[in-house]
Amino acid sequence: MRITRLAVTCGAMALVLAGAACGGSNSNNSGGSSGSSPGTSGVVAKASSGKLTFGVKADQPGLGLQTGSTYSGFDIEIAKIIAKGLGVPESGITWKTTVSANREPYIQQGQVDIVVATYTINDERKQKVNFGGPYYIAGQDLLVPVNSTITGPESLAGKKVCSVSGSTPAKRIKSDYKDAQLQLFDSYSKCVTALAGGQVDAVTTDDIILAGYAAQEQYAGKFKVVGKPFSTEPYGIGLKKDDTAGCNKINDILKAAAADGSYKKAWEDTLGKSGKPAPELDTSKLTNCS
Ligand code: GLU
Repeated sequence: MRITRLAVTCGAMALVLAGAACGGSNSNNSGGSSGSSPGTSGVVAKASSGKLTFGVKADQPGLGLQTGSTYSGFDIEIAKIIAKGLGVPESGITWKTTVSANREPYIQQGQVDIVVATYTINDERKQKVNFGGPYYIAGQDLLVPVNSTITGPESLAGKKVCSVSGSTPAKRIKSDYKDAQLQLFDSYSKCVTALAGGQVDAVTTDDIILAGYAAQEQYAGKFKVVGKPFSTEPYGIGLKKDDTAGCNKINDILKAAAADGSYKKAWEDTLGKSGKPAPELDTSKLTNCS
């Protein structure tokens, strides 16, 4: 609907203004001077080509996991729902692996159109990108060996704690738990390997990510998630900062997915396989896209 109206409006305006307000040759977002032109260079316009590039995680089981050329997990299913709602078939999706630290630059540089990658919405990131969602609320927690004495973030003093550069959990350890010895990698699977090898005492990130590692067959019986989340991590869908129209459209798609059962199905086909019931997608909490 929106795109039709936009096309008509732009068509009519083009007659009057010779296309000046409708993108035309100047529709590249990187100039940053056309923040108010809705959707002409955003994901809605891009989707009309039938193609979209999604930035996703590749090493987070249950959420975003790459096996060969296939990606799977809850974030991947959410991305497919967004693509479908924007009129892009699955065959038109290009998956691009992102790590925590390159999500904002990938969006800003146009290397990806949309990020669905366990991506916490916060004010600092909102300076650089826009967020639809949240579609899930996680919380920071700790993954430790089963026999560990670590019972929460307060017992991290002097302990080696692994997290990922550019992530909110790493930032929180630096600012609130200064006595912990923070070790940073670029992805959580490297932290989990270090935990398995005894090089670190704990891994910290969102509970839902840690649960995915704990459930992996090769770590069966080795790790536990402490289970006392100490932050709120609302997962958003990242896109260009000035793409208000795209953001609103994504929130509309999420509303529809909550109503028609496709959100629940995305959960049940992925993280829900562990028996955890599908969360409620609270559509009253969706961002205002500003
Ligand atoms: N949700 C947190 C963040 O966006 C941690 C998970 C991640 O690094 O992807 O930083």
